Amino acid sequence: MKALVLEKTKHLNLRDIDIKESLGSDDVRIKIHTVGICGSDVHYYQYGRIGSFIVKEPMVLGHEASGTVIEVGKDVKHLQLGDRVCMEPGIPEPDSKATRLGIYNLDPAVRFWATPPVHGCLRETVVHPATFTFKLPENVSYGEGALVEPLAVGLHAVKKAHIRPGDVALVTGCGTIGLVTAMAALAGGCSKVIITDIIQQKLDMASSFGMIPVNVTSQSLNDVVMGNTDGWGADIIFEASGNEDAISRIFEPLCPGGRVIFIGMPVSPVPIDIVSAQAKEARIETIFRYAHVYPRALSLMESGKINVKPLITDRYRFEDSVKAFEYAANPKPTTVKIVIEL
Ligand SMILES: [Zn+2]
Repeated sequence: MKALVLEKTKHLNLRDIDIKESLGSDDVRIKIHTVGICGSDVHYYQYGRIGSFIVKEPMVLGHEASGTVIEVGKDVKHLQLGDRVCMEPGIPEPDSKATRLGIYNLDPAVRFWATPPVHGCLRETVVHPATFTFKLPENVSYGEGALVEPLAVGLHAVKKAHIRPGDVALVTGCGTIGLVTAMAALAGGCSKVIITDIIQQKLDMASSFGMIPVNVTSQSLNDVVMGNTDGWGADIIFEASGNEDAISRIFEPLCPGGRVIFIGMPVSPVPIDIVSAQAKEARIETIFRYAHVYPRALSLMESGKINVKPLITDRYRFEDSVKAFEYAANPKPTTVKIVIEL
C-alpha cells in the first residue's frame, strides 16, 4: 500500500510499502481518511529521534487519525462496516500490570503509532484493535475525529487537575496542545483561562475562543494573573510550552495551595525552584499521553461544548504529504493544525 515513509532524518518518501496485517477476531480494518500532523512527527522528520526513541529503519509517520471501517473481526460487537471512526494510537498489553491498574498509557510494552519501531497511520489502511477504535458521532467530521488525539492530551491533563467550578487556570503555550487544554479547562468548569505565547496571531485565535491572551514579550504575566484573581493567583497552571524560561518561573503566578500540571516536554532537563513550590504547597502533576479519554472527547465534541474545527488551519492531499511536512517544519504563525486527507 501507499504510505508516507520517513526513510531517515529529513528524507521522506510517499511510496509503496509492504505491511502485512492480518485481521484478528477483535480487530477492525480501517480505510484512513484524515491524519493530523503532530509536533512529534515533525520532530522525527527533522531530527530522526525523540529522546531515546531513534528512527533506525524506514518508518511510516502519523498517529492522529480518523477513517472508515472496511472489515470487521468476528468477535467485534460495537462497530460495523462503513462506521466513521477515530483510533487511539497507543496499544498496551491487554493483561499487563499497568493495564490492570488503569494506567495503560504507562505500560512499558505499549506500541504507539509512529514511535520507533512501530509504523504510523499515514497509509491507505490500518488494522486496529476494536477496543481502541471509537465511532464518531454524526455531527463530528473526519477532521475533528483526527483531532481527538491531541484533545485527549488536554482532557487527561484537565482530569488530573481536579478542576472545581469557577477555578481560574493559566495555560503556558498556545500551540495545539495549549489550545485544546484551555478548551478542556473551560469545558471542565474553569471560569477563566489565561493563556500565554510569544506569537500574537496564536493569541488572537485564543481570544476568539474566549481565553485571556498574554503576550509574554510585551506583557507581565504575573500582573495579568493577579489582576484576574484579586491578587490571589491562578488555581491551576497547565504548562504546555516545554519552554525552559516558562518552567523556571512556573510557580510565581500560582495561588497558595494551587496545582501545576506539566504537559509540555522540554528537549533537555530544566531546573525547577522547589522552595517556591513549597512556599505555596503546590501540588505537582505530570501527564504522559492519556488513558481512556477518547469517549469523553467525542461526547464533548458532539454536545458542542468543545469545537476544535477552527484549529484545522491547513489541509493537504495525501499526494502532497511530503510538501505538508516541509511546510510543517517551517509554518506560518497562523498555522495551528495541519491535516492530510487521503
Ligand atoms: Zn499527536
